[in-house]
Amino acid sequence: MPIELHDVTHVYMPDTPHAVVALAGVNLKIEDGEALGIIGPTGSGKSTLVQHLNGLLKPTRGRVVVDGHNLADKGTSLRAIRRKVGVIFQYPEHQLFEETVAKDIAFGPLNTGVNSAEIGQRVQNAMAMVGLPPELADRSPFELSGGQMRRVAIAGVLAMRPQVLVLDEPTAGLDPRGRNDILKHIQELHTQHGVTLIIVSHNMEDIARMTKRLVVMEGGRIQMDGSTAQVFAETERLTEMGMGTPQVVMVMAGLRRRGYCVRLDVQTVAEARDEILSCLKRGQAGA
Ligand code: ADP
Ligand code: MG
Repeated sequence: MPIELHDVTHVYMPDTPHAVVALAGVNLKIEDGEALGIIGPTGSGKSTLVQHLNGLLKPTRGRVVVDGHNLADKGTSLRAIRRKVGVIFQYPEHQLFEETVAKDIAFGPLNTGVNSAEIGQRVQNAMAMVGLPPELADRSPFELSGGQMRRVAIAGVLAMRPQVLVLDEPTAGLDPRGRNDILKHIQELHTQHGVTLIIVSHNMEDIARMTKRLVVMEGGRIQMDGSTAQVFAETERLTEMGMGTPQVVMVMAGLRRRGYCVRLDVQTVAEARDEILSCLKRGQAGA
């Protein structure tokens, strides 16, 4: 299910004095099975971009092609595309509305014609995938904690069994424990079920942990696109754009300033440890 954006421009309120160019000629190809992060300052077009991936927004100019189908073509079924590409918005719990958790999760698949025998199974599986205890199925979603409501909303998209999962700020507003737990479940979808992940986040630690490729947006354009480790190694450029870098990268940058020639393209504490150890060994060898 590759997704391609060809020269996509999106203008909100076109032909009015309030027109906003939110995307300006974006080219992006996302391959099957990727784990892609998208970062950038507020207002840089991240949310606008991800809403193009399943046709929720249409390009003002340019083309979005999903699995070979141009979303603008008459023959393309957006319904079918939305079954395959699940988009979870920022604060998705605001869209819960059914009287029970199970009904809320079942809503999407019921609407796309999944039969009732299969629905129960899908709801159960989706709840397990996000770590919701089965006994919550008959509770009202509005009685749950914020973190649990978020899980219900995510489970509702998972129940559609999407091949591509797009998450816009999935952990915003959650405490660190809830955040880690939700990310762990999302990562399993990727590693165990091969789901393509596209994650928008302000949290650089989340991005470092979850993604292999990273796109940086600014002013409606893609400014950087590379492996997550390589992009984070560009600490100065990211700082100029007002963005942080993960703590491990900052530690490595600090070591470099003190004269240790460590690489900056590390993503995890374990990689940093190995790099520091091998730098120390190199130092000894040279002495
Ligand atoms: P991000 O997700 O990176 O914060 P957005 O895609 O939400 O950025 O916004 C990009 C630009 O488009 C911003 O200037 C924002 O104010 C504008 N914008 C976003 N949504 C709308 C909308 N529904 N109507 C008008 N302008 C919008
Ligand atoms: Mg946004």
